[in-house]
Amino acid sequence: MSTRVIEIHEAVQGQNDQLAARNRALFEDAGVYVINVMSAPGSGKTEFLARTLADMAVHPSQEPMDRRNRLRIAVVVGDIATDNDAKRLGVTGVDVVQITTGGYCHLDADMVAKAIAKLDLRNLDVLIIENVGNMVCPATFDLGEHARIALISVTEGEDKPLKYPTLFQRADLVVINKIDLAEAVDYKGYVVIDNISRISPEAYILEASAKTGEGMADWYLYLQTMHEQHRKLPCYV
Ligand code: MG
Ligand code: ZN
Repeated sequence: MSTRVIEIHEAVQGQNDQLAARNRALFEDAGVYVINVMSAPGSGKTEFLARTLADMAVHPSQEPMDRRNRLRIAVVVGDIATDNDAKRLGVTGVDVVQITTGGYCHLDADMVAKAIAKLDLRNLDVLIIENVGNMVCPATFDLGEHARIALISVTEGEDKPLKYPTLFQRADLVVINKIDLAEAVDYKGYVVIDNISRISPEAYILEASAKTGEGMADWYLYLQTMHEQHRKLPCYV
């Protein structure tokens, strides 16, 4: 890279970081816990989120006594061209805001700022941001989130974490999806988990299938716990 290219890159990142900090302050102020979900196209991100919403989400308009153990969740979905994923998630009855990036292969903090302006953040427990399917640049753009989830599937090969280290280094949670296909694709869980742990020793790792529901309870417990902890933490923003 030339010096000029590096300078432009740093300016873009600097501006994004400022906007991300502004988003984060808004999230803190509203008391909403925000997660940024990243994966390659085809890992089952939308299916994973659709099941999560069906099992865990309640619309904010629901009376508190009818919420049981559910969370008030809304979703921001990023896609390059279509709104198919937003439509799939929208049938669950939660609020979904679509960002169509018009060719950009990642979400940035400015796009998220415009999307969240359409939501009443104060009436939410959790906001899920489904990033554009891409394992490279989404990892370098802070959106103001509290936690990052990297999602891969058992069909993707054991060395994925080694090929895309930035995404995994910065992930708080790694979900290995489509565990129902493990036998068919001769999935070697110990190799994948070892590779993730080498790149990201702190990351929490879980195996799940959004299709059969296997392992999803672990993810729901994680989400509940993180949301509870966040609500109790004193805020210094
Ligand atoms: Mg999707
Ligand atoms: Zn990109």
